[in-house]
Amino acid sequence: MSHREGCRDMTTTTETDVTIIGAGPVGLTLAMDLAGRGIRVTVIEQRRRGEPPSVKCNHVAARSMELFRRLSVGWKIRDAGLPADYPNDIAYRTTMVGREIARIPIPCRRDRYTAEGGPDTWWPTPEPPHRINQIYLEPILFTHAWATPGVTILNRVQFDDLTQDDSGVTARVRHLDTGETLRIAARYLVGCDGGRSEVRRAIGARLSGDPVVQRVQSSYIRAPQLLSLRGGERAWGNISLNPRRSGTVYAIDGRETWLIHNYLKDNEADFDAVDRDWAIRAILGVGPAFRYEIISREDWFGRRLVADRFHDRRVFLCGDAAHIWVPYAGYGMNAGLADAANLGWLLAAHLNGWGAEGILDAYERERQPITEQVSRFAMDHAHAMAKQRRGVPAEIEEEGRAGDAARAALGKAAYDLNVQQYCCAGLNFGYYYDTSPIIAYDGAPQPPYSMGDFTPSTVPGCRTPHVWLDDGRSLYDALGPEYTLLRLDPTVAVDALQGAAASRGLPLHLLDVVSGEAAAAYDASLVLSRPDQHVAWRGDAQPTDPLSLIDRLRGAGTT
Ligand SMILES: Cc1cc2nc3c(=O)[nH]c(=O)nc-3n(C[C@H](O)[C@H](O)[C@H](O)COP(=O)(O)OP(=O)(O)OC[C@H]3O[C@@H](n4cnc5c(N)ncnc54)[C@H](O)[C@@H]3O)c2cc1C
Repeated sequence: MSHREGCRDMTTTTETDVTIIGAGPVGLTLAMDLAGRGIRVTVIEQRRRGEPPSVKCNHVAARSMELFRRLSVGWKIRDAGLPADYPNDIAYRTTMVGREIARIPIPCRRDRYTAEGGPDTWWPTPEPPHRINQIYLEPILFTHAWATPGVTILNRVQFDDLTQDDSGVTARVRHLDTGETLRIAARYLVGCDGGRSEVRRAIGARLSGDPVVQRVQSSYIRAPQLLSLRGGERAWGNISLNPRRSGTVYAIDGRETWLIHNYLKDNEADFDAVDRDWAIRAILGVGPAFRYEIISREDWFGRRLVADRFHDRRVFLCGDAAHIWVPYAGYGMNAGLADAANLGWLLAAHLNGWGAEGILDAYERERQPITEQVSRFAMDHAHAMAKQRRGVPAEIEEEGRAGDAARAALGKAAYDLNVQQYCCAGLNFGYYYDTSPIIAYDGAPQPPYSMGDFTPSTVPGCRTPHVWLDDGRSLYDALGPEYTLLRLDPTVAVDALQGAAASRGLPLHLLDVVSGEAAAAYDASLVLSRPDQHVAWRGDAQPTDPLSLIDRLRGAGTT
């Protein structure tokens, strides 16, 4: 076994810049982001190399795909998952094999960059969303992280505890096969160790919110006959709505494997209160002769819990370690990836010397309110969906006029309720940081957003509006690795701002934006975009005191 697999030299102290606990999607992404900025990272993971995660997340959001594109792993992810021609649609049916009553069209990955006219094809992004299960996504992230210079991954190693002082943080970890212990000394440590986070416990952070929003019996099955029995156009998400048992069936490999969620009713307090086989057959709409095999099962509580703090001196929490909620809108992992995109550049800025220590306070100030907000969007949607399942009319499967009317009404209601969660433009692009210590606000309010809608804006705190440049490039591909000053009017002077940035060592790339699209989204001549593509400042001319702006951006300003 190699050093990277954690077997050798387990009694010594190892040194690194940042220790990350957990090689789930969030820990791996953070590791790649930090290493790309020149930071040495050691990742501790209790699972074996190649040990698959459980079959959970199915949706990689557009905003996450933008991040993966920047980390040069986007195309590998896009090329994996469902077959290239498999529609990513969501079909509402009376049962999986029953009548279709509504469909939310989402392009297959072959057509993902070119399709038009759909509810998410208008999005201003170089990377539309992608449907792929975590069991396919994680190995791609792992392989990419493993090959990234600066990243060391120790598998079969468990984090037990930590101590921190003014100079660093030391993690005590243990090899699960040999029992040997190792101390890993680092400048900073990030807990990406999931919902049962030991790092969260170690810093005394507490989750609060709603401990039970929903109870779900999930079954991952193999059923090679299901697709042919179902008939009609395929769909990635298949929602059964009938009075006996409503549920969700996600296509995993696009051929024979499926993930079925059976949402328990309020009066079904115990997971065993519902016969699993009966529920699966009722959701699928198949009789006792239908054959399927259970690959794995998981009974879980949908929760809405957010940690009371994301940061204690040299230790941070990211992803499910900091927040857990019902996976409506497919935004659990994706919110964790947004945490990683935020924390990565902040930590690197400080470790690389141009960010003051105060820059690190921005992480909790920015991410905690957003995750609290998203958790409420998801919980409200879970309640609305439960109400819709409870209200399925008895005649939904009847032949004739009454059945037709019931199907038309429920189909419309299902579409209207759910298009916002499956095509959640607001969650992707609408959130903004409005109480950050490192953003220079100008008094203009950020435009409100909903789960499904948003308005692109250059108001400081908002996502830097994406446009296509006249030379065909995505604006995001033309940004520098750290701060970028976007100049919409080439006659505006920027020398004082550049000089101030240089005097503080803050990397600032100047980009003259030449784009026919820009006029609609950009209403200032200068826009300063952060490394995570949020607006930090804007103006029509350089600020009168550029040094004070630069100091604010690097966490050395007044809050
Ligand atoms: C049924 C279901 C469906 C979902 N669907 C979606 C979806 O469509 N979209 C979405 O965005 N999210 C979805 N989610 C949520 C998503 O799966 C999680 O948010 C995501 O896995 C969190 O990633 P993470 O890296 O923070 O944590 P995890 O994936 O939990 O990874 C944590 C890692 O830390 C390791 N670890 C834990 N403790 C230790 C320790 N002490 N020492 C060493 N290693 C440790 C674990 O082995 C694991 O590898 C879904 C969740 C469920 C339950």
